[in-house]
Amino acid sequence: MGTAYKLDEPIIAHLRQKKLYIVLLGGPGSGKGTQGQKLAEELQIAHVASGDLLREHLAQETPIGRAAQTYISCGELVPDGVVIAMIRERLERADTAKGVILDGFPRTVPQAKALDEILAAQARKLTLVADLKVSPETLLARLGGRWTCRECGAVYHVLYQPPRERGKCDICGGELYQRPDDRPEVQKRRIAVYFAQTLPVIAYYKERGLLVEIDGERDIAAVHTQLLAALEAA
Ligand code: AMP
Repeated sequence: MGTAYKLDEPIIAHLRQKKLYIVLLGGPGSGKGTQGQKLAEELQIAHVASGDLLREHLAQETPIGRAAQTYISCGELVPDGVVIAMIRERLERADTAKGVILDGFPRTVPQAKALDEILAAQARKLTLVADLKVSPETLLARLGGRWTCRECGAVYHVLYQPPRERGKCDICGGELYQRPDDRPEVQKRRIAVYFAQTLPVIAYYKERGLLVEIDGERDIAAVHTQLLAALEAA
């Protein structure tokens, strides 16, 4: 996903020496996926996106996929037990040893508490929680033009980040599609659910001194630079 700016390179080289366990918080359309994928690639750590994992389970019709289907299609949160079990299993895999960017998890306080327990049992701890702050109006505008790669999950926007070739992923050449839960009525519900259920998670991390607020209204490169600076200072 593009090359790093010259100014960012020394920071990236320094951060690669560390073990980084990062949570990205932010509403649907806040840029978590875009930023998470870019950071993970640069820092050479795993990108664990709960929404992507759930969509893989859906496609493969696993028990987790079947349990999650109705919730996802109407924009509600999948029950904590299902999501926590899925993330626990994912964090036990070897590729998470050097660090992880969690994108879309935790979304509730019980999930945040479960994450603390999972990491503690692995003698790991969170480095930083970044909250990508974006207004509901901007979230709606961004979700409206969003296209996602069926193969690798990369996200594009008709206006803000168009693919080089229409309908085709720049990274893997996969087909771009509009997620069914990006329909207008479901979008509004997902944004409402975020503000109702995930804001307490922000308070949870603020109390623990882990939270950094990032201005998510800015363009992709500016948000990325803010994230790197926050990680360097953590
Ligand atoms: P996302 O791709 O992050 O926008 O997630 C898509 C959908 O997956 C959400 O609207 C929820 O239905 C479900 N989902 C993703 N992550 C979680 C989570 N941590 N807890 C509950 N539901 C989730």
